[in-house]
Amino acid sequence: MIKIENIESWNNLTKDFYVQDLEIESKEDLKIDGTGLIGLPVGIDIHVHFRQPGYEHKEDFVSGSIAALNGGVVKVLDMPNTDPITDSVKNIIIKKELAKKSQIDILVASAITNSNIDQLREIDEVCDAYKVFMSESFGNLSINKENIEKALSILEDIESDKPVIFHAEDPDILNENKNKKNHLKQRPPEAEGEAVRQISIWSSIYPRLKFHVTHLSSYLALRVLRVTKRNNLTVDTCPRYIFFDEKSEIEEWKKKVNPPLRSEGDRIEIKDAFSTGEIEMISSDHSPHTVEEKKEKKLSGMPGVQELLPSVFSLVKRGEITWDRGIEAYHSFPSKLLNINNASIEDGNIIIADLKEAIFIDKDWVKSKVKWSAFENLPLYANIKYVIKDGKIMLKR
Ligand SMILES: [Zn+2]
Repeated sequence: MIKIENIESWNNLTKDFYVQDLEIESKEDLKIDGTGLIGLPVGIDIHVHFRQPGYEHKEDFVSGSIAALNGGVVKVLDMPNTDPITDSVKNIIIKKELAKKSQIDILVASAITNSNIDQLREIDEVCDAYKVFMSESFGNLSINKENIEKALSILEDIESDKPVIFHAEDPDILNENKNKKNHLKQRPPEAEGEAVRQISIWSSIYPRLKFHVTHLSSYLALRVLRVTKRNNLTVDTCPRYIFFDEKSEIEEWKKKVNPPLRSEGDRIEIKDAFSTGEIEMISSDHSPHTVEEKKEKKLSGMPGVQELLPSVFSLVKRGEITWDRGIEAYHSFPSKLLNINNASIEDGNIIIADLKEAIFIDKDWVKSKVKWSAFENLPLYANIKYVIKDGKIMLKR
């Protein structure tokens, strides 16, 4: 039994904190003095790239899960752009086997591509979600609109309850702009707006499916959603679009992500829409590359699974969002999206944190294999003391 005494702990029914003694069923015996600490629901990150199999020099299930735990995340949805691509029953099973080495729960998203539509009925039995890379117009991950529609009609037909998650950038608009002079101009907000418009239409044609747009980045796409969004379409954004924009004073090589960091105006609108709950969820899009790959090959992506909850905690501490909003964004809504029903505090899953003061993020703090963060030198409320998952102590500091 784990006893946590005198802790200010979140109650999901009343949406408030209460100072109380908690007892968590466990094989371990431990008493924790919770005085001055707070108890929070665990994090569920619906968008990570743990890079295994194929790119283990960037991350793997062990290093990725340690980074996640240090940030209070105990379940993640891993994306399919690995090598081989996670696009078949066989490759999903291979990935799930590799993921057994992880210290957290790894859910696996299957890609929907031009070449696996006819296998979706079988894939649905083993995957946890689907990912559609609308922006890919060639290569193994590519899919055209006709095939997306075919896939959606199959999934509706088999009454799939797995979310279909979209990387929302229109490939034609990206192609028209591919020779522009910088990354931001090559991936304009119009690409995201047009993709979101198209996804909204699909969500009305297939009302029983769960549609989700990940890493929303632009005010334009937000405005499209305002006139088109239906109940079966949800959205997330990432801390990077709330904390940073094109002018932020962080190293240029760190900044490059897809979709790009946009203007200050976009950042403020995204932050406001997140604070009201119009953007329901937050995800990390944890996409690590080594420093060399970032600097020399100019690859897009940044780590983020460890920074995800500290970013939310910091928004709460700065008065930008309420605790209720933060917790539904990183825990309750992601649970619902992924059909998870065993991750609550009552089920023995809790983060115990000391959030009295912010700490400055440095390389030592970063647990991802790539050992860098866009948040280095910035203060975050990141002092997580314990992570308990299913009654087991996974992190103790
Ligand atoms: Zn991603």
